[in-house]
Amino acid sequence: MTALDARVRDEQAVAEPELGFETRQVHAGAIIDAEAGARITPIYQSAGYVFESFDDGVERFAGRSARRAYSRNDNPTNVVAARRIADLEGGLDGVLVASGQAAIAAALGALAEAGDHILAADRLYEGTREMVRGLLRRQGLEFETLPIDSDEEAWVRAVRPTTRAIYAESIANPLGEVADLDLLGRVSARTGVPLVVDNTVATPYLNRPIEHGAAIVIHSTSKWLGGHGSAIGGAIVDGGFDWDPERFPHLHAARPHGAPSWAERFGRGAYGAYLRSVVVLEQGPTLPPQSAFLLLHGIETLSLRMERHVENAHAVIDALRGHPAIARIHHPSLDADRAEVVARMLPRGAGSVVSLDLAGGREAARAFLDRLELVSQMTHIGDVRTLAIHTGSTIHGKLDEAERLALGVTPGLVRLSIGIERADDIVADLRQALEGLER
Ligand SMILES: *Cc1c(COP(=O)(O)O)cnc(C)c1O
Repeated sequence: MTALDARVRDEQAVAEPELGFETRQVHAGAIIDAEAGARITPIYQSAGYVFESFDDGVERFAGRSARRAYSRNDNPTNVVAARRIADLEGGLDGVLVASGQAAIAAALGALAEAGDHILAADRLYEGTREMVRGLLRRQGLEFETLPIDSDEEAWVRAVRPTTRAIYAESIANPLGEVADLDLLGRVSARTGVPLVVDNTVATPYLNRPIEHGAAIVIHSTSKWLGGHGSAIGGAIVDGGFDWDPERFPHLHAARPHGAPSWAERFGRGAYGAYLRSVVVLEQGPTLPPQSAFLLLHGIETLSLRMERHVENAHAVIDALRGHPAIARIHHPSLDADRAEVVARMLPRGAGSVVSLDLAGGREAARAFLDRLELVSQMTHIGDVRTLAIHTGSTIHGKLDEAERLALGVTPGLVRLSIGIERADDIVADLRQALEGLER
């Protein structure tokens, strides 16, 4: 046993799957520092881990030992947070990385190579769209989108022999279109192409994509999982999949020194093992363990915060509906065309991103944002604080007007991320900032 193993007791037994979500968000994957008895998972601020002997080092490097070697892909604090997220999502395993963007890059990098094709729903976080249309395209990946409400046959028809992922956001950022993950899960099962879901805006409290057929779940933990706006981070959860050797030869290829392939060794968990042991190890998008520690604190109150986030979002919608300065409010609960999908995907509520389309356009948005007092003007979502941004001149600022309109980003669009403050106070600030802006 290494000194570290002797000090750390794995407490996974506490996190039985039959325990409730609220219990697992506090306990799943936790370790107790047996030397000091700290109840809180410590921050293991260490680059590496001492080998017991020459032979022990050899075994660790060969992956034949469960003991750690280096924090680039295997830090104990990070492993606890990753396991907790994987547990809440109902996955086999999880990996933490430095940001949501890093999670998307690593998740796709572990599936696809130059010449491969990725098929995505057309409503996506702008950072994702930028990456797939820019850097990932330059690296040789082809990216194609279908309207988020396309039917099953249209998705199946669009899958090619080179398709390596079907990609969607459970609740799209910023307008809140909801993907029908049951439908996409059927497409995945019929075609052998894994469904990858960015579940950042829903969180596992509101939606668990693996239960609907997703193979891989991605998070920007900077948002609701962390919840306090204190640390950037990302997570990838491996939900398990039947990896087709034709599409994913890298998971089936023999490894050096006669080691079994990832699929032989890990079966349905081959992807998670490859992601951690190859992609994250070789590229090094490591999350600092202090950030994992902050993330764990956030996750412990996830259900409580999500309940309040959703409740407050509805309070804001109810208070502002029909306001003469607002042409339209965007939130999944208001999407009449997709009401059945929204109810099936999000029975506990549809999240707390509420976008207001101000009738007075960009100038009304400017006046509104500059008058806000309690609500902060900034780029972020999922904070305990209510935040607001004019995405058309910031996040979507590099696009031309026609591109923005095609994404539904109208000149008066203001994205709100509703926090957990007292609803009346949020509403009062929004109302005072809207005064006189009716056209
Ligand atoms: C913010 C966000 C990301 C990117 O995450 P970062 O942690 O900011 O890198 C990815 N997807 C969605 C849906 C997001 O909202």
